[in-house]
Amino acid sequence: APAPPPARHLFSDPAEVEALRRNLLAWYDRCKRDLPWRALVRGDIGKQGPALLPAVWVSEIMLQQTQVATVIDYYTRWMQKWPTLQALAQASLEEVNELWAGLGYYSRGKRLQEAARKVVSELAGRMPRRAEELQKLLPGVGRYTAGAIASISYGQATGVVDGNVIRVLCRLRCIGADSSSPAVIDHLWDMANVLVDRSRPGDFNQALMELGATVCVPKSPLCGECPVKQHCQAWRRNLFGKAPPVPDVEDCGVGDCPLCPPATEPWDSSLGVTNFPRKAAKKPPRAMRTATCVLERRGCHGAPEYLIVQRPSSGLLAGLWEFPSVPLAQDLQEEKEREELADHLQAWMGQPVAAKGLQFIGEVIHIFSHIHQTYVVYSLHLDGDVTLDPALSPSRWVTEHEFHASAVSTAMKKV
Ligand code: SF4
Repeated sequence: APAPPPARHLFSDPAEVEALRRNLLAWYDRCKRDLPWRALVRGDIGKQGPALLPAVWVSEIMLQQTQVATVIDYYTRWMQKWPTLQALAQASLEEVNELWAGLGYYSRGKRLQEAARKVVSELAGRMPRRAEELQKLLPGVGRYTAGAIASISYGQATGVVDGNVIRVLCRLRCIGADSSSPAVIDHLWDMANVLVDRSRPGDFNQALMELGATVCVPKSPLCGECPVKQHCQAWRRNLFGKAPPVPDVEDCGVGDCPLCPPATEPWDSSLGVTNFPRKAAKKPPRAMRTATCVLERRGCHGAPEYLIVQRPSSGLLAGLWEFPSVPLAQDLQEEKEREELADHLQAWMGQPVAAKGLQFIGEVIHIFSHIHQTYVVYSLHLDGDVTLDPALSPSRWVTEHEFHASAVSTAMKKV
């Protein structure tokens, strides 16, 4: 069996664990933010009638990759529209995408709805309550979301590890190895499961995440106000200790310890507690270029209408609507880009489109998580009527107002 991690990276004193739980929960009771999903949590449990959609499930899925301030409005509209698992199971993907429009990472909404369908059709409408089952049975529910639902909605004493928790725990125990490595992640999960309060697991987990979101923040943590500073090794080290010139017992023999910073990047006193956590450098996003055309015609009441087409049901922005677009090879001449777009439109409209007729409008840049996307935007006004080929993807003409109410991405709204 591998050797246990050195003591400085563990919580092995039960009295300290008790004290940390007490201090953190007392702070949470005093200082927690008033968020709509917190008000609903108690109502999730033990209601008669159709099974309610667990508030924390929806909020946690929305909060992956998205700020709290943005999520609140989406969350509120979602819960008003689909308060129960049955209601969500009956929704169409189109409705889900329309409500999700602008929140990004659209597969999250799709999977939430698929999971609700699965609970209703395969699990007799009964929501799994334990983290292991949630993760195993529900699409889109990973280890973190499963732990959050099980502890917050159903009271299971199980820990959670998200970005905020990673930062807090790495600082509490001076973990400076790459925080995305499996060894560190496994260790943090073990630690979260040791620390979680047995009688208030949901509140404890929310408190730890809240601490990371409001006090132990990435750049300038407010250590002076921190309720657990006396348990924090990074804070103690910043206050009392300089990095020793040679590795000592305190540093577990830098170089060998799988949880310490690598010997090549030791403690930097100018960074203080923000020495932790550390992450391997991210891969730069992939550059992509897409030509897109805003096709405009006069509608029956004289108001302009625009053509939007639906994307395939899998892959990036699955099922969303966009202006007719075609991916471009890198480094094409402008003239060639225009021709490619004209050919693409020709296939849609079944009639010749002159590349020269396309008016260049400008470029729009949008960053997806892993793609640096440039849309080269053209417009084309149509006089006569156009018959679209029904064999191609679904398409429709919309007014500007209808466009904004449709399931379109933020990138297309920019276009
Ligand atoms: Fe984070 Fe500072 Fe609190 Fe440590 S003392 S947990 S670094 S805010």
